[in-house]
Amino acid sequence: MGRGSTRSNGGLPADRPELLMADYKPLYTPAEAVLEAERCLYCSDAPCIQACPTGIDIPVFIKRIAQGNLRGAAHAILDANILGYSCARVCPVEVLCVGACVYNPWKRPPIQIGKLQRYAVEAVWDRAGTLFERHPPNGKRVALVGAGPASLAAGARLALAGCEAVLFEKRPVAGGLNTTGVAPYKMHAHDALREVELVESLGVEIRTGVEVGKDIPHEALLAGYDAVFLGVGLGADGMLGVPGENGPGVVGATAWIERMKNTPAALDGAPRSALVVGGGNTAMDVLQELRELEVGSVTLVYRRGSEAMSGYPHEFDRARRLGARALFDRVPLEVLRDADGVTGLRVAEAKGGKAVPGTEEILPADLIVLAVGQAKFKDWVTRFPGVEVDARGRVAADPETGRTANPKVYAGGDCRNGGMEVVNAVAEGKRAAEAMLADLLEGEP
Ligand code: SF4
Repeated sequence: MGRGSTRSNGGLPADRPELLMADYKPLYTPAEAVLEAERCLYCSDAPCIQACPTGIDIPVFIKRIAQGNLRGAAHAILDANILGYSCARVCPVEVLCVGACVYNPWKRPPIQIGKLQRYAVEAVWDRAGTLFERHPPNGKRVALVGAGPASLAAGARLALAGCEAVLFEKRPVAGGLNTTGVAPYKMHAHDALREVELVESLGVEIRTGVEVGKDIPHEALLAGYDAVFLGVGLGADGMLGVPGENGPGVVGATAWIERMKNTPAALDGAPRSALVVGGGNTAMDVLQELRELEVGSVTLVYRRGSEAMSGYPHEFDRARRLGARALFDRVPLEVLRDADGVTGLRVAEAKGGKAVPGTEEILPADLIVLAVGQAKFKDWVTRFPGVEVDARGRVAADPETGRTANPKVYAGGDCRNGGMEVVNAVAEGKRAAEAMLADLLEGEP
């Protein structure tokens, strides 16, 4: 894809490793969807709606599936969450809508809301863009930096309201983490790009291969647009800060996932034994992906106990069912290498996250994946006058409106919240778009 291209599909290679991983929640057949939809109690005051950050009217869309009104079901979903397709596939529904379903306390299987949501949107995929009518142009121009879920959601809302919404994305493909970082057993990159095309069909323009600050100055966005939305996500993978970690065979988790999803045969050779350092959901994803790619030995290394991990227990359980192992209370000390590359990791037992002297051991491995957090774009965002970051490096912005201290600049998604779910980024993008519309159109008829 050339610099400045407005096409969203970057021509993903047909032999990328992510395609080796099958969908772990396959699409419902029509009969399965109706059977599941008819189990729903269509609760008033439905707790599943309260648990959805984008507030999708879940009982309404499920009832429409039961009635055979798939277009109506898709409209109810996408009107609240234009990325309702990817959220259906990647949301941790077990701790959101499905986890809140009234069937749970009765020890009966909760309604499979994510699978029904995916079914409804896929049923109308080719016509999804026609579900919405765009308002006439209102003369307002908004630049959105990054083309991940927050910017896509904000851009869609702005475009439908009649604004000119232009997304600037430095990568060759749009979609953000949906395209580069989602575990392939949840969603493949080409499905994420399909959703990007839906957003484009609403009138959103996406310029891929354009880096703000390099190809176009920050000042040019402020001068050329009525508002600027920052949806830039997070930066480079964190490192351990131990000897030997710089070099082949040690890779950041999001960089490894991106290569596996978007580039051909990019597995750093054929690892036989891998260690994954960390305890969050990115680490859980990598554990499962390595095992699904048939890496023989895959072990999590975490400096505290399992109860301290921020990764979801259901994801860890799946990783273990796939054969991944875990070593808790271990702190990495040194990456060991020989002439052929990485040979292992020297670790020590940890107490309170600190190494206990005399407890060292060597864990053999030829691949080490670091899932220990990501940097923030502190210097980049503060080049917009008045925009500040908080003590954790997140863009300082009102969580309800995305407004920053610069009245023209708004922010949402991971760069503001520090790294949450796709659905949180969508919700923040949507709310920021509403704030932008209120500010830009104030006093206009
Ligand atoms: Fe249906 Fe469960 Fe939501 Fe009630 S809580 S509306 S049963 S999905």
